[in-house]
Parts: sequence; C-alpha cells; structure tokens
Amino acid sequence: MHIDSYFSLSNSDLRSADFVIFGIPYDRTQSFRSGSRFAPNEIRIASWNLESYSTFFDVDLECLKVCDAGNVNVDGRFEDVIGNVESFLKDISKRQIIVVLGGEHTISYAVVKALKDNFCYLVFDAHLDLRDSFDNEVYNHACTCRRISELGFDIIFIGARSYTKEELEFARSRGFKIYRDVKFDELEDVLSVYDGIYLSIDFDVFDPAYAPAVSTPEPFGLNPIVMIEFFDRFSKNIVAMDVVEIVQDPSYVTPMLSSKLIFEFMASRSI
Ligand code: MN
Ligand code: MN
Repeated sequence: MHIDSYFSLSNSDLRSADFVIFGIPYDRTQSFRSGSRFAPNEIRIASWNLESYSTFFDVDLECLKVCDAGNVNVDGRFEDVIGNVESFLKDISKRQIIVVLGGEHTISYAVVKALKDNFCYLVFDAHLDLRDSFDNEVYNHACTCRRISELGFDIIFIGARSYTKEELEFARSRGFKIYRDVKFDELEDVLSVYDGIYLSIDFDVFDPAYAPAVSTPEPFGLNPIVMIEFFDRFSKNIVAMDVVEIVQDPSYVTPMLSSKLIFEFMASRSI
C-alpha cells in the first residue's frame, strides 16, 4: 500500500480547502507517559489504512476539499508555539473548518486563543485540566482548561471521571457543566445558546481498552462509538476540533481510532 507523510484525504491547497488539517507536535509537559509529539505523523500514517467512504454518514470523503498543511514549528517555549499557531491561523478563513493533530492538551489553548470566536469549548476528557499550575508551570497539560477559562470561554466537560475537589469547586464556581457520560438531549439544550463549538478530544476520555496509548490512562471510560451520534447531532456547529494526548502506539490502535474519528467528523460536517 502507498503510505505518504500527509493525511490520506489531503487533495487541495490551503486556500481552496474546506477542511484544514495541521499538527502541533508539542509534548513538553506530559506528566506520566510522554511522546505525543509523534502523534500527528502516526495519525497521518493510520489514515492510509482507512477506506475513504463513510458508512455512517453515506459520504464519499474523496469528494471533500481537504488540505493537510503540515506541522507548526514547536521549537522554543510554549509562548513561541502560541505565536506560531496564531500566525498560521491568520491565513485561514472563517468558512474553513480546522482539524488539529496534537500534541499534548496544552496546544488546545494556543488554537482557542488564536481563533477568539464566539464558541463554547466542549471537551471530551477524563480530567478537568483546571489546575492553576502543575509542576511549577502554568502552560501544563493539567492546566489547559483553566487557561482557556481565563480567556472568557464557557467550558463543557464530557466523560470527566478523574479530578481534584479544588478543580470541581472551580468548575462549579464558573457554572461549567460536567458530564461523566454523554447526555445527548440535555446537551442539545446546553449547546443551543452558542454560535459554535470548539471540540477538543483528549483521548483518555475513552476507555483504555479502546485507546490504550494516551499520556494518562484512566479506567471506566467512554466507548468511542458515542462520537458517531455526537457528530450526527452536533457537527454542523463545530468550527474547529483537536485530538490530543495520544502517545506512541506500536499497535496503531489509538492513532487508527483518531484517524477514523477525523474521517467521520469530516463526513458528518459535510452534509
Ligand atoms: Mn486533557
Ligand atoms: Mn485527560
């Protein structure tokens, strides 16, 4: 089989694409298992194993205009990464849908900060990532949602099952909704007040049986099939999505799931 170093569906230039995929291979603060800097390319390799027809949404993905724009430079400090993401996104128009390949969860902050749109930050994650600092760092993957909350965004947590009392109290003080499972009908009401959704998928939200190669695995997670119904109901409102916290996986189970979810997101978003 022919395998290239770009996402298999990439067929358009940056300006004409409806979907823009890019990687942010940053993983300097991962606390348990590291190595998510390799994930963007592993997800790209996995994409070549997948058929280009969506059987869930009846969409031929080869008809979509997709551009894999490569990876953002992550040399230097995280503040430099923030600047690099911002200058990359300056060339992306509002009509284009963004798919980001992490990297650790921290990269989400750089993307949200650069977009500055009127959306809610909807995060699938076993954790709340609401610590004010961790390991003496404020830009740490355990602090992502705290930093995003400081930008003024509302946050909705799905699949959360591992956090401290302080994080819970902070979430409650800000009125953020926390769901251990996906309650679709309730979500319809909650999301109806927002113009758009920024979807962040920290892969530890899934049960380790489905996504074993994540930085901080957590038992009793979601079955990834719930994402198909989620896309069916909500993808029309998603302006950007990221997949984060995937570490190296010789079995390719985790990057394969990631690629598949990106395929199905794009299929559902195109109809
Ligand atoms: Mn996270
Ligand atoms: Mn997590």
